[in-house]
Amino acid sequence: MAEYDFDLFVIGAGSGGVRAARVAAMSGAKVAVAEEYRVGGTCVIRGCVPKKFMVYASEVTSQLKTAKGYGWTIDNARFDWKGFLHDKDVEIARLSGIYVTNLQKAGAHLLHGRAQILDAHTVEVLPKEGSKDAGRYTARKILVATGGRPRRPDFPGAEFGITSDEAFHLPELPKRALVVGGGYIAVEFASIFNGLGVQTTLLYRGANILRGFDDDVRSHLADELEKRGIKVVLGCSHQSIEKTADGTLVSRLNNDLTFDSDVVLFATGREPYVAGLGLEKAGVELNEHGAIKVDDFSKTNVDSIWAVGDVTDRINLTPVAIREGAAFAQTEFYDNPQNFDHDNVASAVFSQPPVGTVGLTEAQARHAFGKVDIYRAVFRPMKVTFYGGQDRCLIKLVVKQDDQRVVGVHVVGPDSPEIIQMAAIAVKMGVTKAQWDSTCAVHPTLAEELVTMREKYVPTEMGGA
Ligand SMILES: Cc1cc2nc3c(=O)[nH]c(=O)nc-3n(C[C@H](O)[C@H](O)[C@H](O)COP(=O)(O)OP(=O)(O)OC[C@H]3O[C@@H](n4cnc5c(N)ncnc54)[C@H](O)[C@@H]3O)c2cc1C
Repeated sequence: MAEYDFDLFVIGAGSGGVRAARVAAMSGAKVAVAEEYRVGGTCVIRGCVPKKFMVYASEVTSQLKTAKGYGWTIDNARFDWKGFLHDKDVEIARLSGIYVTNLQKAGAHLLHGRAQILDAHTVEVLPKEGSKDAGRYTARKILVATGGRPRRPDFPGAEFGITSDEAFHLPELPKRALVVGGGYIAVEFASIFNGLGVQTTLLYRGANILRGFDDDVRSHLADELEKRGIKVVLGCSHQSIEKTADGTLVSRLNNDLTFDSDVVLFATGREPYVAGLGLEKAGVELNEHGAIKVDDFSKTNVDSIWAVGDVTDRINLTPVAIREGAAFAQTEFYDNPQNFDHDNVASAVFSQPPVGTVGLTEAQARHAFGKVDIYRAVFRPMKVTFYGGQDRCLIKLVVKQDDQRVVGVHVVGPDSPEIIQMAAIAVKMGVTKAQWDSTCAVHPTLAEELVTMREKYVPTEMGGA
């Protein structure tokens, strides 16, 4: 009789868990995956994927404007929120089904129900309606891939607000929305609502949105969001929310401002989903932010337990969770030690306009290297100049002065998430500015500006243009 029921027990069938389970199972290992909600996790069910559908839906407004600028007349354009939500849910169900099939094809056992760790080698799956998977299971190795959860603020009336989880299922498209937060999820939802014709305010307690991004990107994007009709309110936060008889949510802010809206969406951060997981029973340590502490190989302080993805709060993105999961499986089931390199991971903000970024911000590079060269261009793309549009793009390169390596690329403008994926290859390879410039432009494109910036940027207060 085998010593354990499974070689690997994965808790959570999201981006990281599914990849680790599949790769491990394909090695011939006996693998179980427990999922308490829906297979696919945050990304597929209530994150990247449904959000991108909403982005696509909301971008049509500006496409209609462009169409008009190019001589089209499109009468009676209407948006059907309920129809869209229905189609979105059908597609999400299809994608979730593909994840299930892929797990099954790889030979992993899917268990439906919430899992709790009982000790370093035992997991209990709790009963779930419609599932017969409840029970205790032992495993040689346990992988925790339980992701994160939206953090809800705590003040009087906060219960009237929603999080991104509920934003995907609003029964009606609101007329007025107050989006609270300054991170990428807040900015994206503000753009989505605004694009769909909702009167939108973005409220953030800090000095500017997108903390952690390059300062030029932050101020450029804030201006562009305002230009497109989003009211960006900075430096204040909620004191309370009251709900009036007609359903209006009255937000009182710390500076005596009040805002009326039909929806208040809190995008005020996420936290690692460790509550009730039983980690303490196995002695798994958390870090000071409540995330599972792991080494470069995603191993916890307990010899038989690993953790990948958002629950470890390293870089909370789907491709990172996937790569961490794959590296874990390669290391533990193929005798092929791999750790994922968290440097120069490109990322995007699917705001309108979107942002693509890789590497260091100017401030980070100055802090790390002292002297840096900045190349920067702000311009109206050809597509909008044609009809007199005022949208502006920002392109910025951060170059380490001593060895001329390009250490940061930041783009705000149409297709920047697509552009940055390619730029990331060069940055990851350690490209120099001269090599970068030796790349011939593709004309006429927005991206060609990236390889044609020759003049170093000197801010006005330093005597430049
Ligand atoms: C609104 C939003 C938009 C996003 N957009 C992007 C984007 O555009 N690009 C990008 O790269 N990333 C995006 N992300 C982040 C991305 O979704 C996460 O980084 C990614 O899903 C993390 O994967 P994971 O495997 O760590 O966890 P998850 O995908 O969250 O999966 C964890 C799974 O574990 C299950 N689970 C939890 N506890 C238990 C338990 N005790 N027992 C059984 N099952 C359990 C959960 O139900 C869930 O299915 C977005 C996130 C949000 C919220």
